[in-house]
Amino acid sequence: MSGFLTVAYLLAGVLFIRSLGGLSKQETAGLGNTYGIAGMALAIGVAAASWIFTYRMTAPIGLGLLMAAILIGATVGATMARKVEMTGMPELVAILHSFVGLAAVFVGISSYRASRAETLGQKGAEPLVDPIIVEIVHRSEIWVGVAVGAITLTGSIIAWAKLKGTLSGKPLLLPARHALNAVIVLSIAGLAVPFMQAQGVDEGFPWLIIMTGLAGILGAHLVLAIGGADMPVVVSLLNSYSGWAAAAAGFTLSNDLLIVTGALVGSSGTILSIIMCRAMNRSILNVVFGGFGTAENKTSTAAPAGEVHEMKAPDVARKLLEAKRVVIVPGYGMAVARAQQSVAEMTRNLRDRGIEVRFAIHPVAGRLPGHMNVLLAEAGVPYDIVLEMEHINADFPRTDVVLVIGANDIVNPGALDDPSSPIYGMPVLEVWKSAMVVVLKRGMSAGYAGVENPLFHIENTRMLFGDAKKSIDALVAETRGSAAA
Ligand code: NDP
Repeated sequence: MSGFLTVAYLLAGVLFIRSLGGLSKQETAGLGNTYGIAGMALAIGVAAASWIFTYRMTAPIGLGLLMAAILIGATVGATMARKVEMTGMPELVAILHSFVGLAAVFVGISSYRASRAETLGQKGAEPLVDPIIVEIVHRSEIWVGVAVGAITLTGSIIAWAKLKGTLSGKPLLLPARHALNAVIVLSIAGLAVPFMQAQGVDEGFPWLIIMTGLAGILGAHLVLAIGGADMPVVVSLLNSYSGWAAAAAGFTLSNDLLIVTGALVGSSGTILSIIMCRAMNRSILNVVFGGFGTAENKTSTAAPAGEVHEMKAPDVARKLLEAKRVVIVPGYGMAVARAQQSVAEMTRNLRDRGIEVRFAIHPVAGRLPGHMNVLLAEAGVPYDIVLEMEHINADFPRTDVVLVIGANDIVNPGALDDPSSPIYGMPVLEVWKSAMVVVLKRGMSAGYAGVENPLFHIENTRMLFGDAKKSIDALVAETRGSAAA
């Protein structure tokens, strides 16, 4: 059985690696998903089969519980995934990370309670070197696994609340927050000493529970200190923590597949966090240590000077039809309005008339890495006209019209020239360098980072107010009408 288990786990691990490879490109993302589903189905099936094979005689009630757990988990997961809107994906991802953290805490605590009775309860037994080392390693795995799990659990719950809007996106900058974090980290390390020295489960258990509470406070505090604009990195960082928590649980359970899968998630999450930090010009250490170095006064900026000029849909359509080069910048508002199909249709209308249309994608547009790419791909926009920020930013000066559809923070010039802005230093799409910018949004409200946008007050900017879908539908009708005329 153990040989079969190893081969099956190895196969599941290979499927997960192929899944990550597939998900790295839009064209192969569907296949990547299929590999992932197959790997997970194999892993769950084999783990359940192995459990049944091992314990079928001794734990008949456990079998029922195991089946019930699989059924409940699958039903909850399928219902959540079916119901979630694209705009709600980040919250879903964040709350799923919290489940991984919770599982790591449960695995660590229950593993400690179960195994201690066998090893530490044997009073009077000769202390041998090997068992002691094994015991220290085992307790260390539990300690680290529970600590990372608890940080992931509470950090993810706070991230979920911030993304959902239940908690404000503003960073909580306590006066001595770095000292507080340092004290908690040192306490977690210090409490490991009595835990390691404990002579029985009852003696060590309170230390484990106190440490779990401290790690939970640390996780919550670290994420509370992060400002709205840095949340994308936090989500990917928590993704990576959840992977490390799963790997630690894998060591505790001596489960190779959990170790491999956890390490894959942990390392890919870390790489994604580093990529996102580079894209946003942030230091990864700032984000890991909860807003370390965030200037306390960077909470608001003065209202931008200059008038706001409004333009109606027929005039915008006329400008588009006169243009040779058009760039579309999609943002979170396009996702909220579900305007992607209409945007794709308008793009076809313009391209049919020989107008060059391209899309400019900011790395943190929307609320999820790759959010805009997914929506545009779903609407059938060709991949080759969808460009990343670094490939299109230099082209704005030779662009006739830029359509900013429900985007705000990612086109804010204050990020480049206003040191008091909370998003100062983040590279943005420099749309204002084009001949004309048309911004489609419902009103003058700020974006996710809560920052005023001077772009709306610039001379060559026009505002097309209204729900993005309705505005784009009007442009579709106008451009189609003109094409037919
Ligand atoms: P923003 O959140 O900055 O702006 C979106 C704009 O869309 C709003 O100003 C809103 O203005 C407008 N809007 C909302 N609904 C509609 C609608 N139905 N029709 C038209 N407009 C609408 O989005 P961006 O994409 O520019 O920037 C993303 C922000 O999200 C960044 O700050 C980023 O850091 C953050 N973030 C990104 C994550 C990621 O992984 N990508 C994860 C977490 C946060 P109005 O209400 O006036 O219409």
